[in-house]
Amino acid sequence: MFVMLIVSLVLMLFVDRKILSSTAEDTVVSFVWENADKIVNNGNRLDLSGVDTQSKGAYLSVYNEKNKLLKGSLPEDFDNDEVPFHGGVLSSTRQGGEDYYVYDLQWNLTSKPLMLRGVIPASINHYKLITLAITAILWSAVIIFIGVFGADYIAKRTYMPIEALTEKAAQISGGDKLSERILLENSSEEMKKLEQTFNGMFERLETSFDAEKQFVSDASHELRTPTTVILAECARAKKKAVTKEDYEFSLGIIEEQGKKMAHMISQLLSITRLEQGTEQVKMKVADYSAFVTACCEEFIPADRRGISFSTLIEPNIKISFDPGLMSRVIQNLLENAYKYGRENGKILVALKKHGDKAMLYVIDDGIGIAEEDQQHIFKRFWQVDPSRGEDYGAGLGLSMVKQICEFHGGDISVISAPGDGSSFIVSLPAQ
Ligand code: ADP
Repeated sequence: MFVMLIVSLVLMLFVDRKILSSTAEDTVVSFVWENADKIVNNGNRLDLSGVDTQSKGAYLSVYNEKNKLLKGSLPEDFDNDEVPFHGGVLSSTRQGGEDYYVYDLQWNLTSKPLMLRGVIPASINHYKLITLAITAILWSAVIIFIGVFGADYIAKRTYMPIEALTEKAAQISGGDKLSERILLENSSEEMKKLEQTFNGMFERLETSFDAEKQFVSDASHELRTPTTVILAECARAKKKAVTKEDYEFSLGIIEEQGKKMAHMISQLLSITRLEQGTEQVKMKVADYSAFVTACCEEFIPADRRGISFSTLIEPNIKISFDPGLMSRVIQNLLENAYKYGRENGKILVALKKHGDKAMLYVIDDGIGIAEEDQQHIFKRFWQVDPSRGEDYGAGLGLSMVKQICEFHGGDISVISAPGDGSSFIVSLPAQ
């Protein structure tokens, strides 16, 4: 910036010097012509009252045909007699160490011509040049001042909020202050957007960390129960079992708890893999109707409890799905339908196409779910009655089902009333 300023200053002086050197001559010529036009012929008398005799450093004197001065003045040290009158000519002369430009004009307003002489000291150019140089230097100083301090001010104004934001973001992410948020005062529109983006990110991070914490705590809690039962049963068998039957009884309990743990671990693994995108998913468009029919036929309930099972499946419904994942959905819903179904009751699996959706219904007439519990059943480790310890469930099945449905671009909902049974509805985009 500094170099540019110097170059422009030099250029300015150079150009202006050229302009100024001609300015003195131009000034005196135009001054003479301007004032010649102001002389008025009143018939018997010439009126010179409008004539200016000094302006912009130039002097004007008006003479009659006998060389008598009618009006005007000359520079103090200028000897008029030294420069003979040449009408219409611009000449220069040096007197007493000073250069002058002289412009003479013969003005034929009446039969007796007037002589107009304009004189201007050439030094007027130098004064103007000095004035101009000073002005230029002053302006340069102002430009430098504005440039340096203005740029500094703008930079500070721009970077200060960024610095504050960076500092606060580092504080929040570095420590365990994830619940805090950035709040900048008097920030610009852009900074507000950045602030909102950061806060949104912290919000999501906090939610995800909290969920992670909750998940780890729930998982360890759920795994601790069967582990404790296994260890207690081992200790009891070692101390008290005598007969083969005693040992078989203990092994039965241990096997049961082992299965429960294996089931839970496989569900946890599935959930985590889907979440982290490491699950081997093979999506393909296939006959969903045939697939649901096959899943229902292959399903063997842990305890049939006299429940009758029927299907109502609309044929040839096509969707894009991963067979491994979707079989888990159907299996979990059927397991629950039998588990929570009424003894000697009924289960119906129906499949229908509604518009662009394939709707799968798993309906039982079992214990049902209270309205206040319905909003929780898709959460991890959530069970309406956790004391029901006779099965492998740990409240992970429905959350996994929901996750798989969402992975397929669909969702799951429930319609239920205590004592009247439940209808689980899986809605997926049809082809
Ligand atoms: P669980 O392993 O306990 O069955 P789920 O995630 O599959 O876990 O289900 C969560 C809870 O939702 C269950 O504990 C149960 O209380 C309730 N539930 C699920 N399916 C049904 C159903 N068909 N009828 C009544 N309650 C159900």
